[in-house]
Amino acid sequence: MQQAGILLTMCPPQSLERSPRMFFIRNLGMPFILIIAGVVTMMGLAILSQQGGAAAGWARALFPLMGLLPALGAAWAVHRLVQIGQWRRGTLNGDCPRCTGVLAGGRCRMCGQR
Ligand SMILES: [Zn+2]
Repeated sequence: MQQAGILLTMCPPQSLERSPRMFFIRNLGMPFILIIAGVVTMMGLAILSQQGGAAAGWARALFPLMGLLPALGAAWAVHRLVQIGQWRRGTLNGDCPRCTGVLAGGRCRMCGQR
């Protein structure tokens, strides 16, 4: 994770992005929402499994399944970080005409170009 930290604090040489915060929301927002949602759901299930009754049985059955959410989110975040790393080195083969970023919904995820 330290390498990723260095990667993120590095000044992007080709970035025309005005707001670095938007850059990270666009690139890492969804994976982080998935991680947080998964953790919150797991905490809810953990509390529910302590309550006893039929709900506790369901909670225990769903618990490992819900563990997949944050795991998936973490894998997604790592994938996005790898893409950002490639983009900063200029080796990412995205469809953006301005940089080499990946287009998402007709908008470049790296520079915000439509
Ligand atoms: Zn771009």
